[in-house]
Amino acid sequence: MAILKPIEEPRNLHGRRRLEVYNPATLERTGEIEVSTAADVQAAVERARKAVEGWRALSFEERGKYMLRVRAALLDRAEELADTIVRDTGKARMEAMSNEILPGCDSLTYYAKKARRILRDEKKPLHMMKNKKLVVSYRPMGVIGIITPWNFPFILSLNPAVQAMMAGNTVVAKPSEVTPFVGIAVGQLFEAAGLPEGVYQVVTGDGTTGAALVEAGCDKISFTGSVRTGRKVAEACGRQLIPCTLELGGKDPMIVCEDADIERAANGAVFGAFANSGQICTSTERVYVHEKVADKFVTRVVELTKGLRQGLNSEGEVDVGAICFGPQLDVIERHMKDALDKGAKVLTGGRRNPKYKGNFYEPTVLTNVNHDMEIMREETFGPILPIMVVRDEEDALRLANDSTYGLNSNVWTRDKRKGKALANRIQSGCSTVNDCVINYGVAENPFGGVKDSGIGRVNGEMGLKSYCHVQGVLIDRFGTKSELFWYPYTAGKLRLVRRALNLLYRSPIGKLLGN
Ligand code: NAD
Repeated sequence: MAILKPIEEPRNLHGRRRLEVYNPATLERTGEIEVSTAADVQAAVERARKAVEGWRALSFEERGKYMLRVRAALLDRAEELADTIVRDTGKARMEAMSNEILPGCDSLTYYAKKARRILRDEKKPLHMMKNKKLVVSYRPMGVIGIITPWNFPFILSLNPAVQAMMAGNTVVAKPSEVTPFVGIAVGQLFEAAGLPEGVYQVVTGDGTTGAALVEAGCDKISFTGSVRTGRKVAEACGRQLIPCTLELGGKDPMIVCEDADIERAANGAVFGAFANSGQICTSTERVYVHEKVADKFVTRVVELTKGLRQGLNSEGEVDVGAICFGPQLDVIERHMKDALDKGAKVLTGGRRNPKYKGNFYEPTVLTNVNHDMEIMREETFGPILPIMVVRDEEDALRLANDSTYGLNSNVWTRDKRKGKALANRIQSGCSTVNDCVINYGVAENPFGGVKDSGIGRVNGEMGLKSYCHVQGVLIDRFGTKSELFWYPYTAGKLRLVRRALNLLYRSPIGKLLGN
């Protein structure tokens, strides 16, 4: 069967490039967008630059009021927005509501209310120079370029923008060309809240528009997407010496210990692997289960998987939606073929769903897998759950860490202390014990990856502060006419420094001072 792509070759209408957009669940054409040129992007960044001064001058309360107005608009339009999300992505309506709109309301509320406390000046006691006072301030950076993917087009566009704006920055957003109407709808929400002109703008288009935004003179780029594009963004930012946050792909491992609650672990594995049709950066993409509980676990996972309802959206009665981006099906099928050629066994699923003409792949459970297979090494981003049986926890840890990725991970055991200790030994930016997938949605959690999964953190205190320049201001307390180390240098001062060195680091007094 031919691969049906949601976006056809770019079309050139009236001298401007346009892209067609398709509903991945039905393959119906839903419209087209204009590709913003480098000049358009430049103009947007200039408008954003002009808006910075007025926006940063507002108090946190005033900026927070705008965010709460966005929340009111979001609640008024929740159903209409869910329609747009479902049409652009093909995901289950429940997921549009619970994983996009609900966390959107939470993000707007949390940062509207907490930003002032998180970003207030911090007085830092000094361990040595008691004649000085240090105050650390968090200053807005200016214009933030936000580039986002198609898998959670609403929350991944809204959430970083709310953080950037609450910190006093203005934003130019470039949503994915695969799900542009959701990105446009986010812009309309800000418009409905009466935001001053230029504070939040959307530029539509493909990678050329994204690349133009990275080069347009922003003060920081917040990028969420693939490792491949992330590298390009990092290179371009490095060349310009501007910071970037990179939230990239994952190949999240799940470790099921001998003492796990198997019913909860099996439910967690099925949700972790098949929610959003496996298209979550923190999807469970590989399982390592202790040999003593493997049979019971696998049997229950297969039973639960067979019970999932896949299909077009209805009122909350569909569990697994479509594959949003048509070419992703190629990746899924390539990984599956490689796994089957190397001896993997399909326990359920293993093919496109023949009932639908849209992009549906059946929820699939695999065993007899190993690390020679792409399915255990590369991000599949589809509804595939490969399970590997291991001798013990050390074996599981070794395999979990045998990956270029390090976004999220999860450990399942009745011993929570052991779970935490195992989680700490997995090379991943986040982890969960007896839970999965939820990390991004926890506002306080500094979410992000290690290894190829990214650089920097989004959310909570660290995320919010990452949209600020940290400025340490050191204030002299006593106003003496000169300082010991200032001019003129004399032999006497040099002797004093030598004595101070001995006193501080080689004497009982130094020890008393904690040196
Ligand atoms: P992608 O990298 O193909 O595209 C992401 C965005 O970058 C799109 O808006 C695209 O138009 C733009 N882009 C493309 N080329 C560009 C360039 N040269 N310069 C600047 N921008 C450019 O990713 P995708 O396929 O849309 O998304 C799926 C990926 O996103 C998966 O790997 C997934 O794991 C990852 N993801 C990560 C997180 C996270 O928080 N870590 C969250 C969701 C998705």
